[in-house]
Amino acid sequence: MLMTDTTLDTNLRKYANLLVHIGVNITEGDLLHFTVNVTDDPNIRKLAHYTVEAAYQAGAKYVDVQWTDEVTSKLRILHAADDTLDYVPEWFIKKVESYAEAGVARLVTFGRDPQLFAGLDSNKVTTMQRAGRAATAYLVPKLIDENVWCGAAIATQPWADVVFPDLPADERVPKLWDAIFAATRVTEDDPVAAWKAHQQDLVNRGKYMTEKQYTALHLKGDGTDFTIGLPKGHVWSGGGSDHSSGKRFAPNIPTEEIFTMPHRDRVNGTVKATKPLSYNGNIIEDFSFTFKDGRVTGFEAKTGGDVLQGLIDTDEGAKHLGEVALVPHSSPISQSGILFFNTLYDENAACHIALGRAYAKTIEGGTEMDEDQFVEAGGNVSQTHVDFMIGNHDVDIDGITIDGEREPVMRQGEWAF
Ligand code: ZN
Ligand code: ZN
Repeated sequence: MLMTDTTLDTNLRKYANLLVHIGVNITEGDLLHFTVNVTDDPNIRKLAHYTVEAAYQAGAKYVDVQWTDEVTSKLRILHAADDTLDYVPEWFIKKVESYAEAGVARLVTFGRDPQLFAGLDSNKVTTMQRAGRAATAYLVPKLIDENVWCGAAIATQPWADVVFPDLPADERVPKLWDAIFAATRVTEDDPVAAWKAHQQDLVNRGKYMTEKQYTALHLKGDGTDFTIGLPKGHVWSGGGSDHSSGKRFAPNIPTEEIFTMPHRDRVNGTVKATKPLSYNGNIIEDFSFTFKDGRVTGFEAKTGGDVLQGLIDTDEGAKHLGEVALVPHSSPISQSGILFFNTLYDENAACHIALGRAYAKTIEGGTEMDEDQFVEAGGNVSQTHVDFMIGNHDVDIDGITIDGEREPVMRQGEWAF
């Protein structure tokens, strides 16, 4: 059944409210930078307006709305001269620098077309994206660790077309909104209260795992026999982040994970992806990685192998892991059975690992370490961070204690503690 317009309108308001109060947790005097896609769909503008309204009502001092259109990136790759694709304007860097300095809260909504760059020269795509990331890489730790930020999805036609290809075209976007509202608990009477309880549950599980200080996790399942070493002092994080001001915010809506950093040099074995990966507008399917002493030594992929190669060639850090995350198989997204072709959603359906950058907050004292100290402690440094799913109902996970004992962490995809 399709939602009536009134239901959609009510849910858009509740969603906007959730983004403002849980996502970036706007309070008196805050500055908000809000990025939202330009589309032909009036509901997206409605959501944007409800969000701006909720932010000012919550006390925001100024809301800067940036309308973006991802098609312009595709047009650049298609029509700009090859030797200009690595150009990054000085004013772009200054802009990002000024956000970091002003302590602006950043809210980013996206409804990316998972196939935006499909069929384009992947070298050109990588060149353009690598240049953009490299130019502002030095700001990323500050933006991630010191600024309040939130990324959340919006239902767009090109995205809905990929998720629900079998539905009539005009039913796909409403169906995707339904799925977004269910996954983000917007369908509950009081989504903000529901989120606070959910966040507390994840915080408690993170505390338990942090206190355990396992030296490694061992994952076993169909095609997977994989050991992930964990560095001394690793911290399991989840249920949102705490800003230095004491304010709790939700970098990702939805979120179902607790996560920490693997030791960059202590990862061994073979791990099979349990869902396709949508990366750079391409879809990579049926793939697995082999690691030795923390480094990728080989991979197999049924489709998208060249894209995967491009990813691990980004830099040295892209050949090592920066995150391991636990998500129960009973999460609302997993239960929906929908493959979203969007990492923010699909990563919350299953346990996952990420190639690339580790988060400073996932090790004790990490935010005070310089890059050498961080690497010395087992952290990974990279321009990229790409998550892929490795969990399902077949995967068991053990924690290995400092004495070499095994304790169950997950059984058949569910928490064992
Ligand atoms: Zn994650
Ligand atoms: Zn991640």
